[in-house]
Amino acid sequence: MSADNEAGAMPGLMMRTPLLIRQIAERAEGLFAGRELVGVTAVGVERSTYGRVVERARALASALSELGIGRGDRVATFGWNSIRHLELYLAVPSMGAVLHTLNIRLFEDDLRYIVGHAEDRMIFLDASLAQVMPRFEGVEHEVLMPDAEATREGALDYEELISRGDRGFEFPELDEDSAAAICFTSGTTGRPKGVVYSHRSAVLHTLLVNQADTLGLREHDAVLPVVPMFHVNAWGIPYAAAMAGSKLVLPGPKLDPASLAQLIERERVTIAAGVPTIWQGIAQLQPAPSLRSVERIICGGSAAPESMIRLYDEQFGVPIVHAWGMTETSPLASVSRVPPGFGDGDEAYALRATQGRVVPLIDFRVDADSGGELEVRGPTVARSYFRDDSEAGKFTSDGWLRTGDVAEIAGDAFIKLVDRTKDLVKSGGEWISSVQLENEIMAHPDVLEAAVIAVADERWGERPCACVVRREGATLDDEGLRAFLADHVARWWIPEQIHFIVEVPKTSVGKFDKKVLRAQLAEGKL
Ligand code: AMP
Repeated sequence: MSADNEAGAMPGLMMRTPLLIRQIAERAEGLFAGRELVGVTAVGVERSTYGRVVERARALASALSELGIGRGDRVATFGWNSIRHLELYLAVPSMGAVLHTLNIRLFEDDLRYIVGHAEDRMIFLDASLAQVMPRFEGVEHEVLMPDAEATREGALDYEELISRGDRGFEFPELDEDSAAAICFTSGTTGRPKGVVYSHRSAVLHTLLVNQADTLGLREHDAVLPVVPMFHVNAWGIPYAAAMAGSKLVLPGPKLDPASLAQLIERERVTIAAGVPTIWQGIAQLQPAPSLRSVERIICGGSAAPESMIRLYDEQFGVPIVHAWGMTETSPLASVSRVPPGFGDGDEAYALRATQGRVVPLIDFRVDADSGGELEVRGPTVARSYFRDDSEAGKFTSDGWLRTGDVAEIAGDAFIKLVDRTKDLVKSGGEWISSVQLENEIMAHPDVLEAAVIAVADERWGERPCACVVRREGATLDDEGLRAFLADHVARWWIPEQIHFIVEVPKTSVGKFDKKVLRAQLAEGKL
């Protein structure tokens, strides 16, 4: 029963216009047409404006319709943070299709699964990635985005599609609950899981990203999302920037610290967002870069160390704002801002290093029975995965998402993550499934058992550490194992630390006891 049918309830008399991504595009076009956008490519720098981008998004939407793409069809991207990617962010959902951003760092086998599972009909790929992207079965069209000199047999040309499209194309009316985008996230077990955002959830997320005490993008800002557009929609920043009219600075494939520091200085970036690895890298540059234009850095995806927050204050005078979220939460779910009365001493730093307080519309609770697992709910939180019930237990019967993060509550409702229940390693902002890596290691004929645990790493946040039991008489060494893994997993998954041990400790029910392994490693007993 809806609220206004409830006995005695008085109906509100406000309009029910749907919340649609189209409105973000139309606002940018109508209010901020001349606002500049910058995109770095493999071969140079491209400049555009919101007016041009939305006009091209209209042309693209009409060209896609001509190609037979309709409501609910999945359209994938395989690209860097670029102006063309932004055009797709606006065009694909606004015409009623579903944007599926593929994570270019995934191993081929997982990519194949994801493309098949989502039933992607088209893929837009950067020319600079033409050699890297596999051919996928079932995909009807590939479209090459010319960010570099490269060709791909059979692919359509992006610019040609735009030039044949209708720049006056009107985006259709849609149901706000219809799917706008789909992102896959690493499952603890089994295959990656699809999270399907609706227009409504995307617009609400954009509004909450732009609260003054969350990320708070404004028209006067120049915003650099280093976080990839292929990983949870770059934390929603492309939409938040378009809604606010901020200049967007898109770094393309140039993600090394020196290139990013130059870009920040040249484009006078005021807000930059990325995982801790990026900021650790920039802090180590010699000579130290100028970050004079930067008003704040948004850091999340992995824990931002307190030492790094202090260092940025002391060395650069730039505050780091720590945020937490996950693919299932759109992703922004909490932000750490210091409340009045805390000053800027040790107490304030301790709070800033927590994951902060929930953003508006998100409820949270900590489940004491499960050892302190953090649970959240709200209109920007997934209620199930796309065509996959293998982790149905992540959603509680009373409507909450189990995050897999273990939290303590500090001060007034500040979430402090202290552990993780999900068996994953987060390296440089991207996931490594320890279970999958263990299986690959155990596929070596000389290996009897293997357990993978996360170890803290200054540069990458975490790295996998493999604890391996050899079969009797086997002589396998680390080099041999690494050479074997090179054919089976992405290069960045290969562990630097490999320990050969006598046996993997087990729990009472015979599962690998990784707590014991972690303790042994910490005590130097491995
Ligand atoms: P993803 O779905 O790939 O965005 O990953 C979400 C997960 O990354 C969370 O559940 C956490 O385990 C981790 N994470 C994200 N932000 C933070 C943070 N600020 N501190 C610690 N862990 C984080």
